[in-house]
Amino acid sequence: MRVRRQKLPFFSVIAGALLIISFSSWGFLVHRTVGQLAIYQLPAPMKVFFWKNRDSIVSQSVRPDVRRNTDRTEFPRHFIDLEAYGDSAGWKMPLDEPAAIQKYSLDTLHKYGYVPYVVMAVQKQLTEAFRKGDRDSILFYAIDLSHYIGDANVPLHTSWNYDGQLSGQKGIHALWESTVPDQLMDGYRLRDGHKAQYLSDPAAAIWASVRHAHMQLQQLFEQEREASKETPDTVKYRMVHRYGKDMKVYTTAFAKVYGARLGTMVNDQLLRSADQIADFWYTAWMDAGRPDLDALLAASFSRKDKKNCRMESKAYRKNKLIEKQLLLARRYEGWE
Ligand SMILES: [Zn+2]
Repeated sequence: MRVRRQKLPFFSVIAGALLIISFSSWGFLVHRTVGQLAIYQLPAPMKVFFWKNRDSIVSQSVRPDVRRNTDRTEFPRHFIDLEAYGDSAGWKMPLDEPAAIQKYSLDTLHKYGYVPYVVMAVQKQLTEAFRKGDRDSILFYAIDLSHYIGDANVPLHTSWNYDGQLSGQKGIHALWESTVPDQLMDGYRLRDGHKAQYLSDPAAAIWASVRHAHMQLQQLFEQEREASKETPDTVKYRMVHRYGKDMKVYTTAFAKVYGARLGTMVNDQLLRSADQIADFWYTAWMDAGRPDLDALLAASFSRKDKKNCRMESKAYRKNKLIEKQLLLARRYEGWE
């Protein structure tokens, strides 16, 4: 679960008016899905290690969200409110964290979020883990990295109107990143032909994704307004009792109408996340000098494993992971 402190724009901050709001994340379903999809895009020397550890990669991909429950410093690592950093901030902010701290101060980054810098920091840790040949650290950082890259590709993680609270569309965060993909995933394309590519400038790549995500916002909000015009409030919302009070949340029926209006937006962002995760993993491994990962396997890659890995990869290539019940994320549905 994501827990985010609700903020008002700095020009209208009311002292003491901070509320704690909970969301589900990029949905847990999507975070778990993109890690699995990235595995099939890796080159042979990496694939076996990642495939053998696919259960951990999938099941633990939401760990950074869970960590927020016990670690307050975790909270701003999942988003960046670009508007808070000034006009066209996505195009103007420094690519590296020290320069950003100098320009805006560490407090500002902790207040308005700094996910692209977190991605780069974890990428560095992953590269170091590869260099040391430390199996547990490789997995730990590869999993964390998959999560933060996923978050950086969610449009509502790049805006201070992150839950539509400033535009009368409250609840749109969970609607877009959880309810819509939960409802429509079966019809998604889970492969776009991408193979892991070496990134000569990973910081530029993650910033390009943040900008791309941010540019989806206008459409994301607009389509909610359009879907609302054709949906009566009695169908659009349902009441739930949460955090000791009654709240309105979007219905699954509305999510289907809204999801159809969005076209391929959610699906495209899901694929971008998976592709980028594969690129970042691959780049860290290359930068570490292409260490032998097969030597780090806890258990051997048996003949049966080989057969299963080949069968899954084929299902992935033919976009049949869901149809053949090979999407591991489905096994963890309901787990939080
Ligand atoms: Zn997150």
